[in-house]
Amino acid sequence: MREFAYERAHDVPGAVAVLGADPEARYLGGGTNLVDLMKAGIERPARLVDVRALPLDRVERTSAGGLRIGATVTNSDLAAHPEVRRRYPALAQAVLAGASGQLRNMATVGGNLLQRTRCGYFTDVSKPCNKRVPGSGCPAVRGEHRNAAILGASEHCVAVHPSDMGVALTAFDAVVEYETADGTGELALGDFYRPVGDTPHLETALPAGALITAVTLPPAPVAAHSRYRKVRERASYAFAIGSVAAALDVRDGVVRDVRIAFGAVASRPWRARAAERELLGRPADGTSFADAADAELAEASALPHNAYKVPLMRNLVVALLTELEQEATR
Ligand SMILES: Cc1cc2nc3c(=O)[nH]c(=O)nc-3n(C[C@H](O)[C@H](O)[C@H](O)COP(=O)(O)OP(=O)(O)OC[C@H]3O[C@@H](n4cnc5c(N)ncnc54)[C@H](O)[C@@H]3O)c2cc1C
Ligand code: SF4
Repeated sequence: MREFAYERAHDVPGAVAVLGADPEARYLGGGTNLVDLMKAGIERPARLVDVRALPLDRVERTSAGGLRIGATVTNSDLAAHPEVRRRYPALAQAVLAGASGQLRNMATVGGNLLQRTRCGYFTDVSKPCNKRVPGSGCPAVRGEHRNAAILGASEHCVAVHPSDMGVALTAFDAVVEYETADGTGELALGDFYRPVGDTPHLETALPAGALITAVTLPPAPVAAHSRYRKVRERASYAFAIGSVAAALDVRDGVVRDVRIAFGAVASRPWRARAAERELLGRPADGTSFADAADAELAEASALPHNAYKVPLMRNLVVALLTELEQEATR
């Protein structure tokens, strides 16, 4: 592990100033991803700026009636927050579906959104990888790609984003707030992750040195009727091979509002806009749910060993929407 300097930031301008002055410095949240990558020699920061003492650890109501979640709120505190559980239950379920209790006690909201892919070639420095070393190649396309992306990938990278939390935040139109030495900014989560294209190493639209300060959820009454369903190879403590966050508002048997996002199928949490469009105004039944899933998955492009994800996601969508519909009419 490369030697590095460590300091604890006590105010946001101070933290931002350090990264503005030193491009080799990195923020440290819970360290549950960054420190692992440092041990493997994949991340090699010269300086770590620990952000956990910053006053960014609150979940508050916004004046618009939504929620503002501080960037250093731990995954455990987020999942346990009564307003999150009541108004955005899929978010609490998504967070609880991730990692382990100990990891969730350490991991932060900002760090969760910026965690790197779990592609085995990315974490194996003896192998080429376009994300780790631009232009070196992508062995996953012809090699091990059982868990690779089926949506929005490119020949240059087929890795998936591993965050569960990000999937629910995407379904609910979350906005990421950040601070740089030049001031504050914000990015809708839908614009936060860059398309893969031929630059898989450029993962987000955040400016260099930006500190994520909060994630804001706009008010969304439909989110109170939401769920998260994750498929993984073990019952717990495993990353998703496919997941869905969905919210459904049904009146007189017709879909009045719907939100759907997919996880573990793309380089970013994937908002299923085509599925939502297909469902709005249609009867809330199995035929509509299957048509919605098919509309979204029409643009899926699978590799030989991950084609199973297409029917898996279709079944997940139909099952989750059916559960939500039954709950609505109970
Ligand atoms: C064994 C294991 C299993 C896991 N299983 C799952 C799972 O099933 N689902 C899932 O979603 N996740 C899972 N995780 C990942 C875990 O959720 C992430 O490691 C964690 O969320 C990262 O948060 P952190 O605060 O520890 O980030 P760190 O490791 O501290 O940082 C990650 C990145 O974010 C940057 N960063 C941190 N905070 C900020 C900020 N405020 N502003 C700007 N940049 C920042 C850091 O510089 C770094 O680049 C697992 C992890 C492990 C080790
Ligand atoms: S899929 Fe992406 S992360 Fe994995 S080896 Fe290819 S370029 Fe690297």
